[in-house]
Amino acid sequence: MTVSGAWQRAARGAMLLGDDGVSRPTIFAEMSALATSRGAINLGQGFPDEDGPAEVLDAARRAISDGLNQYPPGRGMPVLRDAIAEHQARFYGLAYDPDTEVLVTAGATEAIAASILALTEAGDEVVTFEPFYDEYGAIAALAGATHVTVPLRAPAFQPDLDELRAAVSDRTRIILINSPHNPTGTVLGREALELIVELAHAHDALIVTDEVYEHLTFGVPHIPIASLPGARERTVSISSGGKTFNTTGWKIGWLTAPAEIVDAIVAVKQFLTYVNGAPFQPAIAAGLRLPDAYFRQIAGVLQGKRDLLAAGLTRAGFRVSSPQGGYFVIADAAPLGYPDAAELCRRLPDLAGVVGVPVSAFVRTERAREYASLIRFAYCKKLELLEGASAGLVRLGAR
Ligand SMILES: *Cc1c(COP(=O)(O)O)cnc(C)c1O
Repeated sequence: MTVSGAWQRAARGAMLLGDDGVSRPTIFAEMSALATSRGAINLGQGFPDEDGPAEVLDAARRAISDGLNQYPPGRGMPVLRDAIAEHQARFYGLAYDPDTEVLVTAGATEAIAASILALTEAGDEVVTFEPFYDEYGAIAALAGATHVTVPLRAPAFQPDLDELRAAVSDRTRIILINSPHNPTGTVLGREALELIVELAHAHDALIVTDEVYEHLTFGVPHIPIASLPGARERTVSISSGGKTFNTTGWKIGWLTAPAEIVDAIVAVKQFLTYVNGAPFQPAIAAGLRLPDAYFRQIAGVLQGKRDLLAAGLTRAGFRVSSPQGGYFVIADAAPLGYPDAAELCRRLPDLAGVVGVPVSAFVRTERAREYASLIRFAYCKKLELLEGASAGLVRLGAR
């Protein structure tokens, strides 16, 4: 039986639908299975392998004991909405009303999905950078929107501002940005952000910004686009506790936006999950209220991990990017004599005892060739693991 439906659009939008009309498993699933079967070090998937702060974990345990185990309010528990509003004011000077301008979601994933579904009509255009987080393409396609991309090219992975200008038109409904960026580690600077605000005004588009790595930048500031003049009124800012507190399995995310935009997104969100994660909500609220030292420390520790893995990759002979934030480094295997990263990734567990993901998984077929020799490695892992991976990769380079 052929099961037809909108899933085919979603799969195609995420580059997962084969010419045979069959959905392929994601490269992440394939590579994680390979890591398990070969006992290789999995630098394919971006999740931390250490627990986050005890204050946050203890708060969740306490919440379960205290009986916070039923449906929370539709927009999220007041304690968390207050903490989100405080966080936006404390770090960025942004004022949001916790009752009308904050929405708690099932991870950033749901915030992104509900925003695109709520704010676009079939035929509208959604502009993103490319490579892009696969969800953007899947949801834009589910919404019947047209996905327009602006390439981030090696080695710097910064947008070309003329290409950005050319991609946005009166057909653009949403400019969806992600900074710090997955998979390239690019942190958008003020000039690019100002142009995005200018273009959004000129073409009456909304800005949706995925800032899940907001606290993980290395020596460059994270500038939330909503903090630029003229941006707040048309911006949906999205983040989540997963990457900041090493709780990716809890799926507590949120968005902040003007009240009428939040109302529109709630109208969709309430039929996706309604609500989620009651005992985790006060725990993430406790996390958001941790002292500044915590946020400085997580960025510093991650920067050390980035440096360790980047040095190993460089020693092995890869051409290595300098991510300014986030969980990932991009390594070009071409100098090592491997022009096809997808093929190398399948052999890497045997050759080096390491798993990575080809960057071609984050780009559309039209552009896949430009990124063919690039691999994304996650460095959000224990130091011993990164040392072991570096040693294995250096052996590969010595072959
Ligand atoms: C991890 C990630 C997400 C998903 O966040 P959740 O809170 O786990 O849903 C969204 N966007 C980007 C760029 C990510 O890397």
